[in-house]
Amino acid sequence: MNPYPQAPQRPGGPAGDGPDPQAPGNLQAVDWRDFRDHIATADRDGRRRWLYPKAPSGPWHRRRAWFAGLLIVLMFAGPWIRIQGNPLLLLNVVERRFSILGQVFWPHDSAVFAVAMLVFLCGILVFTVAFGRLWCGWACPQTVMMEMVFRKVEFLIDGDPAAQRALAAAPWTAAKIGRRMLKHGVFFGLSLVVGNTLLAYLIGSEQLLAIQLDDPRRHWAGLAAMMLFSLLFYAIFARFREQACTFICPYGRFQSALLDTNSLLVSYDRRRGEGRAPWRRDQDHEARRASGLGDCIDCRQCVAVCPTGIDIRDGTQMECIHCTACIDACDAVMNKVGRPAGLVRFASQDHLERGEPQRFTRRMAMYSALLAALVGVFLWLVLSRSPVETTFLRVSGSLHQTLPDGRIRNLFSVKMINKSHRPLPVEVRLEHPPGSVRLLGATNPVVPVGQYLQASALVDLDPDRLTGSTTGLELGIYSGGRLLERVSTQFSGPRPRPATPSP
Ligand code: SF4
Ligand code: SF4
Repeated sequence: MNPYPQAPQRPGGPAGDGPDPQAPGNLQAVDWRDFRDHIATADRDGRRRWLYPKAPSGPWHRRRAWFAGLLIVLMFAGPWIRIQGNPLLLLNVVERRFSILGQVFWPHDSAVFAVAMLVFLCGILVFTVAFGRLWCGWACPQTVMMEMVFRKVEFLIDGDPAAQRALAAAPWTAAKIGRRMLKHGVFFGLSLVVGNTLLAYLIGSEQLLAIQLDDPRRHWAGLAAMMLFSLLFYAIFARFREQACTFICPYGRFQSALLDTNSLLVSYDRRRGEGRAPWRRDQDHEARRASGLGDCIDCRQCVAVCPTGIDIRDGTQMECIHCTACIDACDAVMNKVGRPAGLVRFASQDHLERGEPQRFTRRMAMYSALLAALVGVFLWLVLSRSPVETTFLRVSGSLHQTLPDGRIRNLFSVKMINKSHRPLPVEVRLEHPPGSVRLLGATNPVVPVGQYLQASALVDLDPDRLTGSTTGLELGIYSGGRLLERVSTQFSGPRPRPATPSP
């Protein structure tokens, strides 16, 4: 029996690529309309089809609004929050200084970064396999700002979708110009705030304040970056909108490789919904079922609210950001016609086809184990990090020097980075072989938080401690008597004299 009796057929029958809509139980079967041949936001000639989505409302939207509110507060407060004096998040690529959750990282910590990146990628894998693109609709800053801030401003100034369409089609009167100027003025103001926030994440809040408050002539580059970011965000939120998710973001493109029939997705229950037909007040549910009709009343409310312009009834699509607006819209419709909610809901294909609950599959287990291992390595790298990182190298081109007392001296250059949250008084001791080490020009050296200490050092060794033209040295970096780090380097001495042959 055809489970989708109302599904229209592609002209000429089901020949061609794609699943057969006649296949029983095939929930991926589509109705062979041409929705996969072009994107929802362009017409056949490739011209942009501007979307006027309806304002979503309902329980899922309320949850999402609360969550978005929390994220927005975090996002804007992030650069100003300090943990033990360090920013919550700083990605200063110019000075190659990074702070994550108050932990300062330096370019030398590239292993930590590489593992952190792997943790991030693996986390995306696990999350997408289990929950599809929930990130996109709920946590991605682009969606959060677009749907929860800019779109709301648009509803406030331009009205509902019908009013927006009417305004777009209206001639350029003074009233329309005024409304457009107001909207785009607010959009640009918001983009300025977003652009400044991104800049604060890149250069730090102190630098941002300096750019904002100092003489502008001293901050041309900073001001240019600020304006560039603001214009970029204005272009994205005022014009580009959902196209950023469809064309630029790679995540939507590779999600199809990650999803399987066990992944939880925003899905239309085709078995229950087809065949779709308008609802008639005089028709009860049993009569409707008996005449081969399903619960979908083809009201298109799920399409009207979709911010990416797709029809969820066409199946899983790249454009779907899992914003759940269509779930709320359809539940409201089902409520009105006296049918249970959930015609569009979070469900896996296995659940829709066979009623199976989501399983913890072998694939999920493998990804989770990999993620756990990577998190373990990351934590080990972070927790075992020495609070100071030292390089101790012989000054290039310098020769050893023989002192009047016969000892051999080498000149070294020392660089120490303080990766901790407090100024570090440091002391360098020569651990092996016995000898002396002295930092020049710094009797009680202190390395400031998150900064370098650069100095020269003299190491003196007795000649009988030399093992050849180079001798390995082992030094200890101490703070308050506590060993922080051991460093090794090479000491240069005279070539050992060949043994004198006995007469
Ligand atoms: S199909 Fe539904 S969940 Fe997907 S983007 Fe559209 S409204 Fe959001
Ligand atoms: S909102 Fe529900 S009933 Fe209306 S068209 Fe969409 S799936 Fe069908």
